[in-house]
Amino acid sequence: MARVYNFNAGPAVLPLEALQEAQAELIDFKGSGMSILECSHRGKEYDAVHAEAVDNFKKLLGLGDEHAVLFIAGGASLQFAMAPMNLLGSGQTADYVNSGAWALKAIKEAKTVGAVNVAADTGKEIPTRVPSAKELKLTPGAAYVHITSNETIAGAQWKTFPRTDAPLVADMSSDILSRPFDAKSFGLIYAGAQKNLGPSGIALVIVRKDLAERAPAKLPVILQYRTFIEENSLYNTPPTFSIYMMLLVSRWMLKTGPETLYKRNAEKAARIYAVIDAGGFYRGTAVKECRSDMNITFRLPSEALEEQFVKEASQQKMKGLKGHRSVGGIRASVYNAFPVEGVEALVAFMKDFEKKNG
Ligand SMILES: *Cc1c(COP(=O)(O)O)cnc(C)c1O
Repeated sequence: MARVYNFNAGPAVLPLEALQEAQAELIDFKGSGMSILECSHRGKEYDAVHAEAVDNFKKLLGLGDEHAVLFIAGGASLQFAMAPMNLLGSGQTADYVNSGAWALKAIKEAKTVGAVNVAADTGKEIPTRVPSAKELKLTPGAAYVHITSNETIAGAQWKTFPRTDAPLVADMSSDILSRPFDAKSFGLIYAGAQKNLGPSGIALVIVRKDLAERAPAKLPVILQYRTFIEENSLYNTPPTFSIYMMLLVSRWMLKTGPETLYKRNAEKAARIYAVIDAGGFYRGTAVKECRSDMNITFRLPSEALEEQFVKEASQQKMKGLKGHRSVGGIRASVYNAFPVEGVEALVAFMKDFEKKNG
């Protein structure tokens, strides 16, 4: 089989098992004589898929009845808008932490809805980093505090989350379920699925049910979290195939065991960072204390060498290592489904490349 080591930042590598299972039941889903793509979203086949997916994510995130698990089309970017539309009342202020490109997009969208206070701004700092909790200048009585748990482009990640009086809202698109954390303590979590959870175009949304009640009555029904809660994300026809894929990924996570996955993620990242830290050839772009375990960003001594690095890696079946077009450099995205063998291959390649070109 010609599978490559896929370091893409998103859409990204999916568990092979999940892909194979989808392939095996694509034509005839569980004896229904139909593909799941062709099943009614109100029928018993899809119903079981939807219910198990909700259940699995509840389980994986350790959630009780206080929070709802929602599937909403439109990816994380729609959530940049939906979060303030639902949670930022008129006359209120929302605190946002600007830690990079994704946080900035969330801020821009929130500003179209209401008052935004930028509680800390590390967005333009080099080396890249997220601020510490101590640096945050929070608004008393803020509607909520918004953070980006992992800046996918900058390769910077919150290692511990701030404790805030106002509900904490997080864009966890690129690191949800990659490490242990207390999901219950958040007011709202959203994550575009295409990094750790499944296909693109859909977001997993976890919202505290009481917060969803804040939404103004005049907000279009389709944009209210309330609607998705009341209708179990089945108000309209949801992206059924995407949710089915997320179900397969969640099953794989439960089968592997989240603790095993989390440990593996930490080890994968540590092995790559060890090569970066070993000598003067590779240079990490994020501050050590908050460098990401999901998106490992680094530079080489010159752009010409970076280009050569990406090219030679690609010849050895390591794809998607080019850094984001806005920052350049190298980015190795090693999400949950990225295999340990791929990290071993990269580490060996990095050492060899340094020997030849250092
Ligand atoms: C990828 C990403 C997004 C954008 O997701 P879309 O599904 O394309 O809207 C937002 N935030 C973060 C942190 C991301 O990594």
